[in-house]
Amino acid sequence: MEQQLEHAYEEVLRRNPGEAEFHQAVREVFDSLGPVLRKNPRYVDAAVLERLCEPERQIIFRVPWVDDAGRVRINRGFRVEYNSALGPYKGGLRFHPSVYLGIVKFLGFEQIFKNALSGLPIGGGKGGSDFDPRGRSTQEVMRFCQSFMTELYRHIGEYTDVPAGDIGVGQREIGYLFGQYKRITNRYESGVLTGKGISWGGSLVRTEATGYGTVLFANEMLGTKGQDLDGRRVTVSGSGNVAIFAIEKATQLGATAVAFSDSSGYVVDEAGIDLELLKEVKLVDRGRAKDYVDRRPGARLVTDGSIWDVPTDVALPCATQNELDENDARTLLKNGAVAVAEGANMPTTPEALRLFQEAGTLFAPGKAANAGGVATSALEMQQNASRDSWTFEYTEERLADIMRDVHARCAATAEEYGRPGDYVVGANIAGFIKVADAMLAQGVI
Ligand code: GLU
Repeated sequence: MEQQLEHAYEEVLRRNPGEAEFHQAVREVFDSLGPVLRKNPRYVDAAVLERLCEPERQIIFRVPWVDDAGRVRINRGFRVEYNSALGPYKGGLRFHPSVYLGIVKFLGFEQIFKNALSGLPIGGGKGGSDFDPRGRSTQEVMRFCQSFMTELYRHIGEYTDVPAGDIGVGQREIGYLFGQYKRITNRYESGVLTGKGISWGGSLVRTEATGYGTVLFANEMLGTKGQDLDGRRVTVSGSGNVAIFAIEKATQLGATAVAFSDSSGYVVDEAGIDLELLKEVKLVDRGRAKDYVDRRPGARLVTDGSIWDVPTDVALPCATQNELDENDARTLLKNGAVAVAEGANMPTTPEALRLFQEAGTLFAPGKAANAGGVATSALEMQQNASRDSWTFEYTEERLADIMRDVHARCAATAEEYGRPGDYVVGANIAGFIKVADAMLAQGVI
């Protein structure tokens, strides 16, 4: 079976040259699958691995727009409709200058397993653009979103493909995208996008869901050792929605969040991060780490080194891919970190992951730990389909149940395959089996 896995992996390399992040995501999943294929050779006979790695559809398009100075600008837009075995393609849009096809494919591939793990009927997809929203005026962002949707609208729909946000795409962008979709199609099709505003079809808790879910998952992991987050030091990289609401939930559970970061450096605030101030700086003013430090006595900004140098019990990487490397893992272990939960997608490098696994650190991979975001998107779709809107309390309860289930599914699968406590193996195998069985049932398509 190892031979089949290697063959399928070589095909991925050959078909997708130069897409390092995508190769890394596939490698990590394949490394878990040997025992599953040995147990179920029919997955091999039906070429499930090969089919799973090849997206069902990949769309690349030109996005022309006019900046405030009247100059015509061109960006590239992507939507990878990866796998629809379990439901309509579902996954976010990322607007960041680093976006290219390999990033979108890595994210889309991860999304297939994450969405399967959520237990909800959603397939996997991802999209985005190399557009850099930083420093752009609201008018420019709006014109870009309108142009992006002018092409994307023909590919998406409530039953086809349901995008949402990711890095660089929040409620403001979803609003402009939704407005343009509605204008072009003349349909108030709420279920075509998630992450909408509350008054126009959004769900309460969607904004908080990814960060909240990550912390709930970390707490569940600690629970298997008779521990919890109460009284723990927590370090959270990033300062977007995921990081901010991870800090909020960790604080609610009695932990002290002592550090966050953005692209200008990281902030250490030993007294515990002032959440109201952080929200104002980052979500209202769209400011920088320095703006927080300027208004918070005792906090300091560090512009070199790594946020993982800060001694902590629990590390929550919530910024971006490959942000926590081997050296960081070594430092965290030396300083006594007991748990790592990925709020971002694939923030831990393969070398760092190996060190955590060798050390027996509780480690939650993003496709399990950050599944609360997309799961709450699926709850938003449920509310849209029934023209209903749920209370915050009810929706948060649903999220907490889902995260408990995801944790239990990963833990049980790891146990079943002889790797108790290995959430990476548990998540990969549980996600894979669910999708692979649906693909087998639906024939060679
Ligand atoms: N971008 C988020 C993720 O990585 C959410 C996707 C969604 O809500 O569709 O899972």
